[in-house]
Amino acid sequence: MSINWLKYRKNLRGRDPLGVQAINIHLYSVLIPGITNVTDRLRYYSFFPWILKLYKDENIKLDFVPFLRRAEFLFSVITNYHHISEPSWSGHMVGTMVIGQVISELNENKKITLSKYTGLDEGPHRYFKNRLGGFGQYYLGVLVAMQILSRKESLEFVLYPRGLELANAFNAGNSKDQFISCILNDKVTTKELDAIKDDLCACNLKRNSVEYKLLADYLRAGDDPYVQEPTFMRRSSLALMFMMLKQIQKTTDYWELLNFLYYGMSENKKKFKVPDNLSDTANLWKYYVQHEFFSMALLSIFIGAQHLLDERQLGRFDIRANAWKKLVLGCDNNNLQESLKPCLAKLKKDPTLKEFLDYLDSSYKLEKVWESNALSEISISSFLSGKQYPADALFVGGLVLMCLVLRAVKDLEKEPAGANFHGLFNQYPINLKKLREDYKNKWNSAKVSEVAGELIVDYVLNQHIEVAIRKLYTEGLATFRFLREDELYRHSEIEFDYVGKTSPRLRESLQMMADLRIVDESKNGFSITDESIGTKYFEGVVSGT
Ligand SMILES: [Zn+2]
Repeated sequence: MSINWLKYRKNLRGRDPLGVQAINIHLYSVLIPGITNVTDRLRYYSFFPWILKLYKDENIKLDFVPFLRRAEFLFSVITNYHHISEPSWSGHMVGTMVIGQVISELNENKKITLSKYTGLDEGPHRYFKNRLGGFGQYYLGVLVAMQILSRKESLEFVLYPRGLELANAFNAGNSKDQFISCILNDKVTTKELDAIKDDLCACNLKRNSVEYKLLADYLRAGDDPYVQEPTFMRRSSLALMFMMLKQIQKTTDYWELLNFLYYGMSENKKKFKVPDNLSDTANLWKYYVQHEFFSMALLSIFIGAQHLLDERQLGRFDIRANAWKKLVLGCDNNNLQESLKPCLAKLKKDPTLKEFLDYLDSSYKLEKVWESNALSEISISSFLSGKQYPADALFVGGLVLMCLVLRAVKDLEKEPAGANFHGLFNQYPINLKKLREDYKNKWNSAKVSEVAGELIVDYVLNQHIEVAIRKLYTEGLATFRFLREDELYRHSEIEFDYVGKTSPRLRESLQMMADLRIVDESKNGFSITDESIGTKYFEGVVSGT
């Protein structure tokens, strides 16, 4: 087979070269529906309906597009101005790119001209390229999906009853008229900002206000009439995060929470037991974490193979032997983290996979998994994704991580309940299920070198070519890292990959919970100061609260 004609197409890196992250992306969309990686602040869900209603009610004599752009930009300026000394509270607003300029201009001149930043012409000041700004690019899809509004014409929107309710509830205090006059006069002064910042900041969600209640219900999909079945998962996911934050008793980021859930033990030795009624949700999150480790292991092996093929072309059988010889037997101990060094010594003797897994079992200590340089999934995956390591270190690290994942899944009988993965597993055939089945059917008594060879050829090279062919046909993109010519693999011109993670919507979810004061956000992560708010909020979601 010759695929030389690919040379004439534009090469692009593209994402997910092994089609292995797709399963996780599906998983978190099931676990946290309705929140995306660009919908960070809860008050936008009432702000935009309010703006749309305002435009009609006040009979605004300014075209809709400049009105909308100035309004959402001003909302962001107000929020940043209100929290000038505590940036975590002003983060995640639309137009962050130019906010630094705006603040220094305010410091200097005590005023800014809005259209300087909100005009559509390209330039160093433009806050957003999309004509409809962050509303159009980030929030519109979700607002439509959640039946808050609909789009009638390209610039005409209709509020559904739920949207109307949110618009009416938006608490602008006494600042509405001043907000509108700033937009119409195309400027805002620090004096005006001082007057309206308390009312019109994204943080202004007063508990006991109607606006707070509606947004809180929206996020929790509580007892409101618009609740749809899938949002049940979102509620359970948020409750789980809240309970873990309460338990861990320190400031933490969402990855740390996920690992806490995965191991049932935190870095500060707190234990976590999942409440019965959240166990389906928790199991899916654990599966997500495990698949994440699996995906990082494969990517590391993939990068090792890329380096090898960059040196010379190899056939499918040569690459197995060469990878083992060069990347394992020739691996330089100095490149490895401490816990991998004894593993390498063991690997060099080429034990059977079973012997190697037994060795991992006997060396694995739950109470030590969080330590840096530990023989654990957390430690090795952070080593792999930490910086650019040499190919041999990535390869050995990937191989050991893969064996740790296998160690944990080999005895499982089936995938976790609660979501139908059947179709997904067929579409993306490199997954934990395959790993487990290959262990049972083929690798039980195989040598590690044979397994490493299969990982390179079946899990990585062939799989990548499958995925890249699919991308070529469906999207017209040539993302091939390797070309296969007459059974020889050759590295393409695309630069080497790096070991990355997917990003579940937990940071955004926790940020929204911070807007409701259920959790607190600081630059190091999230914590809880007043747990009574969340306990009340999740009443009934968690049994026993
Ligand atoms: Zn504020």
